Amino acid sequence: MKIPVLEIFGPTIQGEGMVIGRKTMFVRTAGCDYSCSWCDSKFTWDGSEKESIQMMEPAEIFNSLTDIGGNKFGHVTISGGNPALLKQIDGLVDLLHEHQIEVALETQGSRWQTWFTKVDDLTLSPKPPSSGMETNFTTLDFIIEKLHKEQDGHFSLKVVIFDEEDLAYAEQIHERYPSVTLFLQVGNDNLEANENESLLSDLLEKYEKLIDRVMENKLLKDVRVLPQLHTYLWGNKRGV
Ligand code: SF4
Repeated sequence: MKIPVLEIFGPTIQGEGMVIGRKTMFVRTAGCDYSCSWCDSKFTWDGSEKESIQMMEPAEIFNSLTDIGGNKFGHVTISGGNPALLKQIDGLVDLLHEHQIEVALETQGSRWQTWFTKVDDLTLSPKPPSSGMETNFTTLDFIIEKLHKEQDGHFSLKVVIFDEEDLAYAEQIHERYPSVTLFLQVGNDNLEANENESLLSDLLEKYEKLIDRVMENKLLKDVRVLPQLHTYLWGNKRGV
């Protein structure tokens, strides 16, 4: 079964979460079961780029990765949209592993796939209230329990923070899953900004405020506070 792909690019650094700074290639799949208000990849699900979706076999994706990245990479991040909608990613994970390439996944934790257990670096990023989405905690509980029992690699939680309600949501997540490493990340609500310098100063200010709020928080003891690194370097530019 073919995989709907919107972008393949890299090598670049991972700008978010548990493997921030890691050299990686990206495969961005099309389609999402959510419609977050601040989604920075709406083009994966809003139909605006449906003409650009390529239906690709795992081998074709692998060939495209090596055409673009040569032999300069050892890590591939599968992102979306929500790649967890796609059962057929199983074959891509296996193929990358056959070539000694590690695999990372970014998903909001709304769907389970058995191939999650083979992912080396899995980020579950449940969406806070500012997204307008509601977390299905029955599903998230199930996924986290399965990963605890069966996953070969590592997994973590990441919550993007835009406001106080989101911070309260992060507290709830931390309390519910205390043994899972939790990353908090500053949200970028200026997706239209073309001017990198003013975006950077705005994001730095937000990062500092988030750090301050977390430092004074009694419930968020064992968390890591991260910027969305690629936006600090390249603003809202795509494919970097
Ligand atoms: Fe966008 Fe991710 Fe939300 Fe889907 S889950 S709408 S890709 S932010």
